[in-house]
Amino acid sequence: MNKMPGTSALVIGGSLAGLLAARVLSDYFEQVIIVERDVVHDFPEARKGQAHTRHLHGLLAQGLTILTHYFPDLHEGLMSGGSPLLDMAQSMRWYCYGGYRARFALGLKGIVTSRPFLEWHIRRRVAAIPNVTISDGYSVEKLLTSENQKQITGVQLVKAGTDSVPQHLFADLVIDAGGRGSRSPKWLEEAGYQKPEESTVTCGAGYATRIYERDASLPGNQDWVFVTPEAPHEYRAGAAFPVEHHKWIVSLGGWHGHHAPTDEEGFIAFAKSLPAPDVHTIITTSTPLSDIVSYKFPASLRRHYEKLDDFPEGYLVLGDAVCSFNPLYGQGMTSAAMQAAALDKLLQEQPGLHHLYKPYFRQIARITDIPWQTAVGEDFRFPETRGRKAPGTDLINAYMDSVHRATHHDAVIGAAFLNVMNMLAPPASLLSPRILWRVLKSIAQRRSDPHNSF
Ligand SMILES: Cc1cc2nc3c(=O)[nH]c(=O)nc-3n(C[C@H](O)[C@H](O)[C@H](O)COP(=O)(O)OP(=O)(O)OC[C@H]3O[C@@H](n4cnc5c(N)ncnc54)[C@H](O)[C@@H]3O)c2cc1C
Repeated sequence: MNKMPGTSALVIGGSLAGLLAARVLSDYFEQVIIVERDVVHDFPEARKGQAHTRHLHGLLAQGLTILTHYFPDLHEGLMSGGSPLLDMAQSMRWYCYGGYRARFALGLKGIVTSRPFLEWHIRRRVAAIPNVTISDGYSVEKLLTSENQKQITGVQLVKAGTDSVPQHLFADLVIDAGGRGSRSPKWLEEAGYQKPEESTVTCGAGYATRIYERDASLPGNQDWVFVTPEAPHEYRAGAAFPVEHHKWIVSLGGWHGHHAPTDEEGFIAFAKSLPAPDVHTIITTSTPLSDIVSYKFPASLRRHYEKLDDFPEGYLVLGDAVCSFNPLYGQGMTSAAMQAAALDKLLQEQPGLHHLYKPYFRQIARITDIPWQTAVGEDFRFPETRGRKAPGTDLINAYMDSVHRATHHDAVIGAAFLNVMNMLAPPASLLSPRILWRVLKSIAQRRSDPHNSF
């Protein structure tokens, strides 16, 4: 243990963000308890409280680096179940803007895994930490406060799905990792505080997902396959990722109501309508192992806790409970991991918990800003998107069109793009003189030879 600003901490929600928060807190508190509403089994599962985990989840390289820092043997665990460790650029089959991005060896390692399998590995490791207890099947119903309401002192919970007698659990620090449906705004209001301001940007996203058998020995069956639209004319996307236990997870989806049907015929027809054949080929040559399930995601949502002047001591919010992005960009888990790492750093630097929320929410806002701008900026390519649009969005999107096209043939631009996409480099790095020059050169080549895929 590094330091002890308090003796006990409590985390609401035992999904990815809650597990990571508990892992961090276990270094500082004598006792950490996770309260999870669902009953959780010791096998990979998509629970009722996080039904979205049945759908394709890509883990960005930044997220993998942080997870591996906290769970050094995670790689081996995932790989022993057959999750491939890939060079993300070498094993990419990504069609966008009229061509495939060039493949090359970049040394950017990625692990492809289903979300339940990843979470199961993390949960087992968190559950094995001696000072962490996971209490599942309990729902937090409200916050407990000190008499003057300046401090959150714990939570009131009930056995989930029953009207059992409410119980009180006390803690020096409570973290809400209850996901997008977090009740923190309501709880804070009940405790006499203001609700955070919210930003929403619509995307009308919808997923339909099915698992297929995968013969890993066949050429191309270790590639991660992605077909993304050239907005605003195209709205549909499809992906097939080679996950553990010789399976493909295939998700089809799109923006603003362009969703794949969940009947077999409609699902296949949707895949056929994509601008490249790869996903369609996979699903028409592989054996399905599951039903087709769907999920709708109306809008990206951000809660601006950093803007609140008054906030109780002993309380923080983390993960999707703060910000949930259009999932088609694959940023949520990495953002949660970055938030947990920021909490770790603050606990190392701060002498105690007093006023921790101030620097914490400032940091969380900084971490969230980039994926938020990237996701909603891309969504504003579609005229149906509603919400606050940052100045310069159209200009950036026009430049990014050229970046995407240049990645068809230029590995230097491709590497810069993948580093930004994986949250390893700031978006501004795509405007460095070296990249800008190459993008301009690619535009000039395309103009002089429009039939070539420059
Ligand atoms: C369709 C879809 C696809 C996605 N794809 C990607 C992807 O490719 N890459 C990526 O990085 N991210 C992706 N995401 C986002 C990612 O799933 C989340 O960012 C990530 O799961 C972190 O979520 P979380 O732990 O904050 O919340 P959640 O996963 O929503 O978990 C919240 C947990 O809190 C529990 N809970 C809630 N309220 C209470 C309460 N009152 N008491 C007790 N327990 C409670 C719930 O039961 C649940 O277990 C996707 C999201 C969706 C919707």
